[in-house]
Amino acid sequence: MTQHVTRLFGVTVHGVQIDQRTGCAHYRSPLDVIAIRHHCCGEWYACIACHKELAGHDASVWPHTEFDSLAIMCGVCGHQSTIRAYLGYPDQCIACGAQFNPGCRNHHHFYFDK
Ligand SMILES: [Zn+2]
Ligand SMILES: [Zn+2]
Ligand SMILES: [Zn+2]
Repeated sequence: MTQHVTRLFGVTVHGVQIDQRTGCAHYRSPLDVIAIRHHCCGEWYACIACHKELAGHDASVWPHTEFDSLAIMCGVCGHQSTIRAYLGYPDQCIACGAQFNPGCRNHHHFYFDK
């Protein structure tokens, strides 16, 4: 049974074979616990590859002027961060301390205008 959408902490999150910590078919380590709200559609996705497979449109990056938007959600505790807060401290959740995948920083340009 595969599903491509789930409800986490009251938020609808899309992802290919998404699990209850925002793991997906592309990224499913204990550190892959971030959901990202996409600028193009305002929807939450487990990763950019999930967006590509499921959204049916091209992703757009968040412009600097919107970096105070809540666009990062911790899949462990549900805490939502602004882009600015997340980029300033990308290695763990500021609310619960859950470790985030350090490799994510190599992908920030897929989501945010840097
Ligand atoms: Zn989109
Ligand atoms: Zn994915
Ligand atoms: Zn957390």
